[in-house]
Amino acid sequence: MLKWRVFALHRNARCVNPIGLEPKVHNVIILGSGCAGLTAAIYAARANLKPLVIDGQEPGGQLSLTTMVENYPGFPDGILGPELIEKMRKQAQRFGAGFKSGAVSGVDLSRRPFKLTAGKETYECSALIVAAGASARLLGLESERKLIGHGVSTCATCDGYFFRDREIAVVGGGDTAMEEAILLTKFAKRVNLLHRRSEFRASKIMLDRARANGKIRFITPVVVEDVLDAAKQNVNAVKIRNVETKEGTTLPVDGLFIGIGHDPNTKVFSGQLEMDAEGYLVTHDGTRTSVEGVFAAGDVQDRVYKQAVTAAGTGCMAALEAEKFLEEHKH
Ligand code: NAP
Repeated sequence: MLKWRVFALHRNARCVNPIGLEPKVHNVIILGSGCAGLTAAIYAARANLKPLVIDGQEPGGQLSLTTMVENYPGFPDGILGPELIEKMRKQAQRFGAGFKSGAVSGVDLSRRPFKLTAGKETYECSALIVAAGASARLLGLESERKLIGHGVSTCATCDGYFFRDREIAVVGGGDTAMEEAILLTKFAKRVNLLHRRSEFRASKIMLDRARANGKIRFITPVVVEDVLDAAKQNVNAVKIRNVETKEGTTLPVDGLFIGIGHDPNTKVFSGQLEMDAEGYLVTHDGTRTSVEGVFAAGDVQDRVYKQAVTAAGTGCMAALEAEKFLEEHKH
């Protein structure tokens, strides 16, 4: 215990600059403030590492964009995603985690301390936890890109309200698409669920709920080929094509919600951290990445489970591993 205390004092002394304000070199910086990042922050803060969390482009991550979370242990009646994430943030703050807004645009992981740039700020840290999550995937259509925010959305929780008594479409066949479609029936007159296959990736419970909802019309197997009308700056229809019959149809809708999954936010680490063909960070022996002292947690490294509870689990692992790494390297 005594040894640990001496070490902790030594560690903090080295990391605080002479005027005692911001540490020049942070023990650990956590990129991302979703479930993984905040869990890492709770553990790192409780280990007296005084972690700094850089919020990222989507503070709160995917949980802050969702509605009721029914499968996070400890909440038998469910809990709203934004409420759960707010509780985690407060918990991390209570133990001394610091927060900065902004997204990291540059990193140098070639030597320690690692260097990060976010806007005009630069940061240095002895250990880094990447928990930058994943962002909504788009179909890749020119018209879709032009109409984002003008009838095309990736977030039913954020934008559903604007489609009261309207006819809308949701693309996708996973849990995200089902969840968005169900939520949107609270506002919309009808929700057309467009999916490229007749089989669904969604869990049975979510699919059954969507199928039982009289306001949801399933249209399969179709692909969306165009969103109309980019020239008018609003959505009034989508062009769809049946992949089996090759028949094309124009479906009148006032909005299009894209629920086709997410891509990991790892571009900034390109060439510095090993990643797979789809951009997920490759980890080994827990949450270790290809660079010693850099750990990855949550959706940036998880192409399989992608659950809030698994993100929290890897966030915990990353913090424990970062703590051990700092101890071994006597920062
Ligand atoms: P997902 O399970 O990967 O499903 C993505 C869906 O979009 C698939 O049906 C896929 O079609 C389709 N898709 C992908 N790219 C497409 C494209 N370019 N054009 C048309 N369709 C495309 O992703 P997700 O639904 O976001 O779910 C991710 C994870 O989060 C899952 O583990 C899920 O269980 C979890 N999640 C859980 C909840 C909940 O429990 N409440 C809510 C949301 C998400 P194919 O099937 O043909 O590949």
